[in-house]
Amino acid sequence: MTASIVFCIFFPVMSDYCNICDTRRPEGGTNHLVLNGGELWIEFCEPCGKSETLQNPETGETVTVQALFDRSKG
Ligand SMILES: [Zn+2]
Repeated sequence: MTASIVFCIFFPVMSDYCNICDTRRPEGGTNHLVLNGGELWIEFCEPCGKSETLQNPETGETVTVQALFDRSKG
């Protein structure tokens, strides 16, 4: 098993809260990124997605939350 990050997307109906900047109902809404097979959930607004980064502990790769989200869609 070499896959280091497994992620998928949920589209919540009710929740609308950015976990990064602690803003409820941020402008533009939020997206959900689920990492490590569901162990780590991040709900984020658009500005945070572009500024907040995550590091893959296995590869050392640092990517923005938004980039991971975009990657998970494609
Ligand atoms: Zn935010």
